[in-house]
Amino acid sequence: MGYARKVVVATHNEGKLGELRRILDGFLADEGQRIELVSAGQLGLSDPVETGTTFQENALIKAGQAARESGLPALADDSGLVVDVMGAAPGILSARWSGRHGDDQANLELLLNQLNDIPDEQRGGRFVCAAALVVPDVPGYAVRGRQVTRVGEMPGSIIRQARGDNGFGYDPIFVPLDQPRRASDQQPLTSAEMTSDEKNAISHRGKALAAIMPILIGWVLGDGHIRG
Ligand code: IMP
Repeated sequence: MGYARKVVVATHNEGKLGELRRILDGFLADEGQRIELVSAGQLGLSDPVETGTTFQENALIKAGQAARESGLPALADDSGLVVDVMGAAPGILSARWSGRHGDDQANLELLLNQLNDIPDEQRGGRFVCAAALVVPDVPGYAVRGRQVTRVGEMPGSIIRQARGDNGFGYDPIFVPLDQPRRASDQQPLTSAEMTSDEKNAISHRGKALAAIMPILIGWVLGDGHIRG
């Protein structure tokens, strides 16, 4: 069967890393022997500065830097919450909305305060995720020096009081439109009240990765003809 090909998952966010790995492991069930996922942290890679103005640009910056530094194919995502009445915000600034990068509680509380006067029927929004794959320009892969992005969305609404302990970020105040079957006779679940499998089945990240995984497998293992 040959040796496993390494792919770097370019994230330093622990909550996201766990979610990403779980999704990827599901897709890689059949290829598990042939693709080994390693994280940017494990390889000691640097944390890139996200200077892009879109989710796609930022995902490409993260994957591109990890691929250059490691010489391995790299997969990254950039994601955030987009609230309808706030235009594109918090958007690419979701992780640092309160000014403190990665302070989920402060970010969530600031957003709730900002939406305080917004009535229930105008509290729609969506999570957006761009997944990026970059294969470095080195020998040994089905394709060389190529990149691709795919985007996934999870529509829903922002509630007024946090519920649930799972997930991360804004999950406790977000009720996805798509609900697991078990939610039908209760109040709708926030994404923090769902199991990780329930969330991944409907999530922005699950959808973006589902779209990029066949390309990853084709570019890293296959004949490279899968179109990206
Ligand atoms: P990134 O690390 O630059 O992609 O920023 C992602 C930020 O968006 C996170 O820190 C969260 O604040 C928010 N976010 C993205 N995806 C999710 C999710 O699935 N649930 C909750 N918050 C999320």
